[in-house]
Amino acid sequence: MSDTIFGRIAAGEIPADILYQDDDLVAFRDLSPQAPTHILIIPRKPIPTLNHLEEEDAELVGKLFLAAARVAKQVGIAEAGYRVVINCNAAGGQTVFHLHLHLLGGRPMQWPPG
Ligand code: AMP
Repeated sequence: MSDTIFGRIAAGEIPADILYQDDDLVAFRDLSPQAPTHILIIPRKPIPTLNHLEEEDAELVGKLFLAAARVAKQVGIAEAGYRVVINCNAAGGQTVFHLHLHLLGGRPMQWPPG
């Protein structure tokens, strides 16, 4: 659980600005926000990347997306709109190897992303 910075946040070992948590997941503000609202949603289970998902994780993944939508409402960006991103491995821009959703909002998002 504690092998990455996000594992340590999930374990309560280091502080984070937590907006929601339950038995399965934690949602907290990104330390280096790329948008006015930038929230990370992580499973407590230490899944390193999207490539490591297994069939047994299907319900958990659903819960991560449901949490993203719920937190988007909670922080007031749901109606205007937002983006949810998962980076996978080096070419995908992943730097922390504990699966996470980025919830980005508060400004218009560009497409395609950089
Ligand atoms: P990624 O590049 O997809 O792996 O995203 C990792 C994200 O974690 C980056 O947006 C970082 O700003 C963010 N981050 C790293 N350390 C922390 C931390 N201690 N608390 C909150 N966000 C963090």
